[in-house]
Amino acid sequence: MATPNPRLRAAFLDRDGVLNRKMPEGQYVQSPEEFGLLPGAVRGLQLLAARGYRLIVVTNQRGVARGRLTLDDLSAIHRKMGNLLASKGVLLDAIYFCPHELGECACRKPEPGLLLRAFDDFPDLIPGESVLFGDSVSDIEAARRAGVPAVRMPSNGSLEAAVQSWLSTDTTANRVK
Ligand SMILES: [Mg+2]
Ligand SMILES: [Zn+2]
Repeated sequence: MATPNPRLRAAFLDRDGVLNRKMPEGQYVQSPEEFGLLPGAVRGLQLLAARGYRLIVVTNQRGVARGRLTLDDLSAIHRKMGNLLASKGVLLDAIYFCPHELGECACRKPEPGLLLRAFDDFPDLIPGESVLFGDSVSDIEAARRAGVPAVRMPSNGSLEAAVQSWLSTDTTANRVK
């Protein structure tokens, strides 16, 4: 199989409910101790990386605006996420988060701002050849507004299963560049 050009496309990953267990509605992961990867997350990311997708996390973190966690807490949580993944050989290319309240910014999903920032930072990426995995309708809407195909998976479900299903139907995944 030809190796796809790794610079052309990204897999955008929602965080809560996709990579780590989502807290009940209205609650937030507030510390690294509360952060744990879901079964299937590592394998799903490995499959995407092997197909040449950049791995970019896009996450709403309204808990920051609500004073439930600080930006330092969020950094510590993301450091833990990065370390857990790195121990399995998975390297994230970027993490974009929205720390804002509802209706106050252009980046809180369903707004497409987090994805658009990624396309600014990685200008080689092609939106239509990228993909987003999310567990909320707002994820899917953000992707749609950014011109990115999207896969909605069950909250706290298996990213691996969602990725397998995507790769089996995605014609671009096997395209030779
Ligand atoms: Mg989510
Ligand atoms: Zn925002």
